[in-house]
Amino acid sequence: MRVVQNLIDGAFQGASGGAIINVFDPATLGQIATAPDSTAHDVDAAVEAAANAFPAWRDLPVKARSGFLDRLADLVERDSEEFARVESIDTGKPLSLARSLDIPRAIANLRFFAREVLDTELEAYETAQGRAMVRRRPLGVAACISPWNLPLYLFTWKMAPALAAGCTVVGKPSEVTPLSAWMLAQRAVEAGFPRGVLNVVHGRGPLSGAALVAHPRVACITFTGGTMTGESIARAAAPSFKRVALELGGKNAAIVCADAVAGDAVDATVEGIARAAFTNQGQVCHCASRILVERSAWDRFVPRLVARVRRLQVGDPMESTTDLGSLISAQHLLKVAAAVEAAISEGGRVLVGGSRVDSAVLPERVRGGAFFAPTLIDSLAPTARSNQEEIFGPVATLIPFDTDDEAIAIANGTRYGLSASVWCRTDTRAQRFAGALDCGTVWINSWMVRDLRVPIGGVRASGLGREGGTESLRFFAEPVAVVHGPREVTSPQLQGSTHA
Ligand code: NDP
Repeated sequence: MRVVQNLIDGAFQGASGGAIINVFDPATLGQIATAPDSTAHDVDAAVEAAANAFPAWRDLPVKARSGFLDRLADLVERDSEEFARVESIDTGKPLSLARSLDIPRAIANLRFFAREVLDTELEAYETAQGRAMVRRRPLGVAACISPWNLPLYLFTWKMAPALAAGCTVVGKPSEVTPLSAWMLAQRAVEAGFPRGVLNVVHGRGPLSGAALVAHPRVACITFTGGTMTGESIARAAAPSFKRVALELGGKNAAIVCADAVAGDAVDATVEGIARAAFTNQGQVCHCASRILVERSAWDRFVPRLVARVRRLQVGDPMESTTDLGSLISAQHLLKVAAAVEAAISEGGRVLVGGSRVDSAVLPERVRGGAFFAPTLIDSLAPTARSNQEEIFGPVATLIPFDTDDEAIAIANGTRYGLSASVWCRTDTRAQRFAGALDCGTVWINSWMVRDLRVPIGGVRASGLGREGGTESLRFFAEPVAVVHGPREVTSPQLQGSTHA
């Protein structure tokens, strides 16, 4: 049993009131840790520590800040197996996924921003009238609030650019998955980060998260999570004009064109769609949850996809053969099961899956776990609730389309606009889709392929702002225009006329 602690001002400590949250492995429902149930008092202490540490951190040479992040990446890399195991038991995801995706990506985030900040070029423009430059002044204390689906991956995606840009950080990981952020905090101390530069406060969103968002000394907030929470954060931040970046939910379309299903191409398309819909048990905000299939290809594609999904192995996250592990919690499983029931009552037809995995077929160790079978549903109108609201589980719907305009209208016909994928072998057609889809990312014949220099984020109910590359670094800094008059100017009279 691990005892997770807050990191505040360089010291590990429990919540000021002593309250704790019990943390469970959702695959076994066994308790694995306790975490502090922090209060506004703890948040105050963390923000104060971050505010005090800010001037010295901001004034460090960029190379020094970059070096700290690189050292932290080295330590996560050194302990990557331990991080992967912990991430797997905290979330229920397959260990193989934590090993191949979550932890390598967390390391890559740290290294990427350590390098990116060094590569940032000074923005300067010369004209006959003088020289204009843009200085980027770090904002101050950054609140980094991350969710449970990709805990370390998304926490580092926020804290690394914040620290690289010269902000200090108060992080608030999800109460459901505190372990990897706690381990990261330990490695940050080992890496020699000055005290107060990185603080991590554990606790419940509505209590410690809300206190952090409302704190007057927090300069900016970067948040990934649900759309409703994002809305409440935007409201709480508005009165003090805090800068906010929100990465929220999605109802992402995968558009499958007939030519992507013709001949041998069908296998790669089926594989790609199965991955896009069910990676991490469908608990990735970019998962394809609506699969739009060109009607002429339906009979060739859908049975193959159903057969592929039937072969996905759901089971013990520790087994190397497992494709899907447990959902994040028993409560979330009930939510997903209720969403499938609602789809059926709307007229949906379950083609595969549709229910909790029968515990009798699960290995004994994980019989109590929150396992839901990967599920495909068709016969639902694009406007049905199940095709409009995010389920955030291993559930995708299939919708036929006849024309590209119809596919575009269906894909754009929800309040969300996070991402989409287009499975199409004709480049001009794929590019036309990419131009017409109202979302932040369009993948063509691929899904979740990421170049960290490229911005990612959503439109409408999927969020505000972009993260990635220079977009992330710029989020954490205020651009200040510094304009010099002509260098040759000597006469005060002439100078005056230049500025007029
Ligand atoms: P939340 O949006 O509630 O949680 C995300 C983070 O915000 C967590 O750290 C949470 O803390 C914190 N938080 C919650 N309430 C507040 C608040 N008022 N002020 C500040 N911080 C807060 O996501 P859930 O875990 O409840 O999931 C709900 C839904 O959100 C999912 O079903 C899914 O639809 C979507 N989601 C989307 C994700 C994405 O990547 N876009 C990721 C995760 C969820 P705590 O966990 O302690 O409550």
